[in-house]
Amino acid sequence: MSEKKKIGIITDEDFAILNVPPFPRTSFFAHEHPLRIKSILDYLDKVNLLNDSRIILKEPINVDESIIKLAHSQYHINTIKRLSKFGYGIIGDEVFITQDTFYLAKKAVGGALQALKCVLNGDVDHALALIRPPGHHALREKASGLCIFNNIANSILYLRKKLNYYKKIAIIDIDDHFGDGIAQYFYEDPDVLYFSIHEFDFEEGDIGFIDELGEGEGLGKNINFPVPQGITDDDFLEFTDILHPILTQYRPDLVIIACGFDMYWDDKIGNCLLTSYSYYNFTRWILDLARTTCQGKIAFILEGGYSPIGVPACVHSIIKALLDEEYERPEFEYIDFSSESKEEEIAKIKEVLKKELGKYWSL
Ligand SMILES: [Zn+2]
Repeated sequence: MSEKKKIGIITDEDFAILNVPPFPRTSFFAHEHPLRIKSILDYLDKVNLLNDSRIILKEPINVDESIIKLAHSQYHINTIKRLSKFGYGIIGDEVFITQDTFYLAKKAVGGALQALKCVLNGDVDHALALIRPPGHHALREKASGLCIFNNIANSILYLRKKLNYYKKIAIIDIDDHFGDGIAQYFYEDPDVLYFSIHEFDFEEGDIGFIDELGEGEGLGKNINFPVPQGITDDDFLEFTDILHPILTQYRPDLVIIACGFDMYWDDKIGNCLLTSYSYYNFTRWILDLARTTCQGKIAFILEGGYSPIGVPACVHSIIKALLDEEYERPEFEYIDFSSESKEEEIAKIKEVLKKELGKYWSL
């Protein structure tokens, strides 16, 4: 009989309690709240997944400042520390600080790192880090877009510099927003392939264009799949037509999902119309592919996602897919968005991308 599958869930009750945004409800910052994690844990408990013997609960690794320094400048670290001590602060337009921020952001890095480590050392088959604050916008020198430290980049740099792990890594970023932080860390790195599907907002002057393809040895390994606002379940997995052949040729040794749920239809920050089926089907697809390229070594790291009803359902759907089980979406998702499909726009994006990427991959 084959051994039972093990899914690692890495979290900590501090994520469900600390770093409460000091804003009135009208501010969009206020959605990055401890209830994001509390609602997930309550839901997983309700559907009896937390005491399932296949679920292995793990705590974040305790990281000290020297580990954060692998990815961030001393000035940035000091700034977060200083403002957290002060107990209040705003950095730029889109980052709030509380007395808990330094402590919790450090713990979030430890959560992502634990997810990668326990997948790589075979403790679990797949892992899911339920952590906050998110990380994919954070840059070496500064916090950005609700992100303090770059949880994924920091964990990869730890694998490289502390564990001598130099194998190939693919990051797939399904958050509604372009993970500009992650892209910048690995833009010239041939051994980290970054793929991002994101809502493209011309009016706000976003970055994350199709022709940002990496530089030097990293050329062809930064891949952006920008989509118009309002994509539906019918549209979401269209990107796999591009990514599937690329990953099959690249053959990563580890797959990391920068897992945001802000393309969910009820999300207050994103503007798309996905249901939890998209996340379920995505997970089935990537799991299949990872089985053939890297013995199924996948770690999901939570990024954004702010719908109190959607985030728990999406996490549930991912775990069901990782367990190779069927998934039935909750009743509040019985809404038909198919008439909103952005089929034509997405077909155009694929056409342009195929042309651009054809120089580096056979598509
Ligand atoms: Zn986002």
